[in-house]
Amino acid sequence: MADTVRVLFLDRDGTINEDIGSYVTSREQFRLIEGAAEAVALARSAGFRIVVVTNQAGVARGITTIEQVEDVNRYLNELLAAWGTSYDRCYYCPSHPDYPNPLYDRDTGCRKPEPGMVERAIADFLAEGLIVDRSRSFFIGDKIVDVECGLRAGLRPVLVRTGHNEERMCIERGIMPEHIADDLYRAVTGHILA
Ligand SMILES: [Mg+2]
Repeated sequence: MADTVRVLFLDRDGTINEDIGSYVTSREQFRLIEGAAEAVALARSAGFRIVVVTNQAGVARGITTIEQVEDVNRYLNELLAAWGTSYDRCYYCPSHPDYPNPLYDRDTGCRKPEPGMVERAIADFLAEGLIVDRSRSFFIGDKIVDVECGLRAGLRPVLVRTGHNEERMCIERGIMPEHIADDLYRAVTGHILA
């Protein structure tokens, strides 16, 4: 019989690492938000699988490359290793509807708020014999698209006030997370593990 797992789905830029106002294209531009690595370590120790889900349309726009995105994602895991932790999976969406690119059009449907990356992660867990318990899994991000993606995927959305902090937009549009925290550390310690 398959095991059931809880997953913490995490947006990357503005949630785990500082938003720099543009696409992070190199390791030098990637700086962890204070407490973020510790939050990942705490959640993983508590039994959560960690899945990073990030829109990287800079690829389709020609601002960054697949290789750069993947190198920065590897770097994140290297930084997490210093805290004795890691993410389990990482998914990025290179496409953008305004920048059609035959190389990436197959990825249509992955760009948040579409839940394509979450669904793929859940399918990949299932292929390993693990059933994701959506009702006990979370999606944490700094933008309304993260909240909407979490809602569409049947997860419990949490907004953080780091990065773009789209709290006001969420309220105006009535797309509400179940919790709003100052940052990832407080989301994990003050809500998810509380
Ligand atoms: Mg973000």
